[in-house]
Amino acid sequence: MTAELIAVGTELLLGNIANTDAQYLSEKLSALGITVHHHTVVGDNPQRLEAALETARKRADIIITTGGLGPTYDDLTKQTICKTFGRKLELHADILEEIRSWFRNRLGKEMPENNVQQALLPENCTVFDNPVGTAPGCAFEEGGVHVLMLPGPPFECQYMFEHRGIQYLEKLTDGVIVSHEIKIFGMGESSVEEALREPMTRLSNPTLAPYAKLNECMVRATAKASSAEEAEEMLRPLVGQVCETLGDVVYGVDVDSLEAVVSTLLRQKGLTLSAAESCTGGLIAKRITDLPGASEVFRGGVVSYTNGVKAGVLGVPQALLDEFGAVSEPVARAMAEHCRNICGSDLAVSVTGVAGPDPDDRGNETGIVYIALSTGGETVCQKLSCGKGRGRDRVRTAAASHAFDLLRRWLSGLPYQP
Ligand code: ATP
Ligand code: MG
Repeated sequence: MTAELIAVGTELLLGNIANTDAQYLSEKLSALGITVHHHTVVGDNPQRLEAALETARKRADIIITTGGLGPTYDDLTKQTICKTFGRKLELHADILEEIRSWFRNRLGKEMPENNVQQALLPENCTVFDNPVGTAPGCAFEEGGVHVLMLPGPPFECQYMFEHRGIQYLEKLTDGVIVSHEIKIFGMGESSVEEALREPMTRLSNPTLAPYAKLNECMVRATAKASSAEEAEEMLRPLVGQVCETLGDVVYGVDVDSLEAVVSTLLRQKGLTLSAAESCTGGLIAKRITDLPGASEVFRGGVVSYTNGVKAGVLGVPQALLDEFGAVSEPVARAMAEHCRNICGSDLAVSVTGVAGPDPDDRGNETGIVYIALSTGGETVCQKLSCGKGRGRDRVRTAAASHAFDLLRRWLSGLPYQP
């Protein structure tokens, strides 16, 4: 089945907001095995929305609209869809009562009369009641095309898709769709595709599809079967084959992130971590403390951005800074070793590099980063190029990810030379 997303809202066309609903829905649909062929954006204009719907119904099995379900004059989605598909709008007394009591209970006031139109829904539709807002969504089928309407505000759109839309779509496909995500760090999307080209082009069920993310990539294996057990049965050998082909660049299957894997490994081994950060400016600490239960494994760190703090707070010998410069292997090693002592952790990781846009005063190019790991027994150090010509943000994110990958490799007994 193929889907088309139609986002309704003039503010999207003006560039005031980004179409994050489409991004979210596309990701969810592909995980369900539904292929999205088109994203369309139209303003709050009934003629152009009608034209977009006419085009979409010719080329998609499923149309999902977002936005324009509210109570104001510019909210025209339902009216226009009904006109296009030849359906009447009818008042749902129970929905109207729900909206009235939502206003009373949540806002402590009576419902304004123009909210009545939110209880108007296409005849013979499946109603998606909305416990997180006032605008209900709905879905119907006409001439083999399914039309789903979701509210525009991202939180509502996501809630309604997760709790109402998915159930509706699952009924359209007999059987269940199960997928697993194989997460990869340290191998680009094109190399991954090359390594997996044969199974990727040969297979139709289960399927393999690659996705690029910032600084890393992912392969999703999806199977459709009559039961979840059967789908898992089909996926097991395929996921195993992908992991074997790609080797230790695979950092996990169905895991959230590199830092989540590191956090789990630290917990399993009963070890604690600290971080001395220069160019990442606290990003490592931020990413690991984003995870619940971080205090069990992360003791803290020092953002030693200037040489003064590297020497004065961390205790990196001034002579090392003078001789080799802040962006150097001896300084990275000293940062990690001193951080480990100051924080009293089992392990400490350090990052010092050039975030850019200009090279440093010793001629190190943007993206040159030294990452060290002090383990008590030894200190290991990597010199990396995290991307010349990339923005500061990407260099810093890549540097933090490399630090987590070094930790993952060390904690798993894998080779850690880049
Ligand atoms: P409401 O009841 O709030 O009016 P609605 O379903 O009518 O909801 P819109 O009026 O179209 O939705 O949009 C409401 C707000 O939701 C917008 O101002 C915008 O902030 C957000 N929004 C709408 N569409 C999108 C989208 N495609 N992606 C991200 N945000 C969106
Ligand atoms: Mg609105």
